[in-house]
Amino acid sequence: MWAFARWRGEVMHIVIAGSGIAGITLAETLRKLAPAFSVTVVTRETHGYYSRPMLSHGFSREDVESRIIVKDFAALRETGIRLYQGTDVLALQPDAKTLTVQAAAAGTETLSYDRLVLATGSEAVVPAAFRPEKGTVRVVNSLDDLIGLRRLRQQILAAGRTPRWALIGGGLIGCEVAADLARVGDSVVLYHAQTRLMERQLSEADSSRLLTVLTGQGITVCLPVAVAGVDCGDQGYAVQRDTGTETGFDGVIVACGFRPRIELAVQAGLSTGRGIRVDHFLTTSHPDIHAIGDVAECADGSLYAYVMPVRHQAIWLAGYLAGTVTAPWQVPAFKPRAKVHGFEPA
Ligand SMILES: Cc1cc2nc3c(=O)[nH]c(=O)nc-3n(C[C@H](O)[C@H](O)[C@H](O)COP(=O)(O)OP(=O)(O)OC[C@H]3O[C@@H](n4cnc5c(N)ncnc54)[C@H](O)[C@@H]3O)c2cc1C
Repeated sequence: MWAFARWRGEVMHIVIAGSGIAGITLAETLRKLAPAFSVTVVTRETHGYYSRPMLSHGFSREDVESRIIVKDFAALRETGIRLYQGTDVLALQPDAKTLTVQAAAAGTETLSYDRLVLATGSEAVVPAAFRPEKGTVRVVNSLDDLIGLRRLRQQILAAGRTPRWALIGGGLIGCEVAADLARVGDSVVLYHAQTRLMERQLSEADSSRLLTVLTGQGITVCLPVAVAGVDCGDQGYAVQRDTGTETGFDGVIVACGFRPRIELAVQAGLSTGRGIRVDHFLTTSHPDIHAIGDVAECADGSLYAYVMPVRHQAIWLAGYLAGTVTAPWQVPAFKPRAKVHGFEPA
């Protein structure tokens, strides 16, 4: 029970990189379990701690930009968490137990830790072929992404037009976003490279019912269509597909999966695969550094990139660091649920 030993002797400094559900659940749970610990969160976010799953319903709710905030940073500071917002973690120095951070327009700063937890999450994958020379494709991965998309919609509506979107990817996020845009009256063409929608999460029968629901909402679903490229010209965006080029889109939204943010770990020499590799104790290849959430590749080689297991990891790690838990982390039973308007799987 190393944690208890350190806890009794001196203050334990825990630094957490990232303020998503993994980082904030860990920080809040640590404050309750081990009030004597010093807990620091470093995050590039500026809006507060927000609900990422709500992003895909971010068009049909007028007040989403405020409602999506689960807790503002000031409220978290009041609980005793030291929080650096708008601050990037630039590099790790595992042997010195330090990290280099930088706030916008400020110089770099070095923070030291006893234990570091990487909870830096994941980013959306945008294949090179979908990055046009002019213009830029959109993703729905962060609150800033959503704010940018909502602004673009408002500009199109203000010009008296109905927004027309190409959505590439018919997985969980693509289907949820398509249905949400359709709900607010936008025109949506959804391209998916597989023969059925959400093939990873749904049975064939449920995929087929989902297709009926989406087409019933006025969405054009193109299956199986592997988009070859995206262009941007005077007439807006164009999508290249097997049968030719489809033009006249106001925007292209890419929902082609996610990639754990492993760059910091790679640069620091930690073991990585698809994610940052951790053992059964959510510890990386360096004993003082843990990884949880979307960024972690667990001992069974899996990424558990859903709210329920991510939260479970954070609570487990808080107990482990506080010394109240000694048994290894075990994957909880969970079932991902799609939040597509009008659709319930059987
Ligand atoms: C649109 C959408 C809908 C979803 N819907 C569902 C759903 O319905 N159900 C479900 O279970 N899951 C859903 N998910 C997945 C779920 O949201 C994630 O599994 C979960 O949010 C992961 O949390 P996290 O804390 O690991 O990572 P994140 O939420 O990605 O948080 C990582 C944080 O680290 C910060 N960060 C990254 N790098 C740095 C750096 N170098 N320096 C400082 N800060 C940094 C980021 O800014 C971010 O705040 C959805 C995801 C998306 C994108």
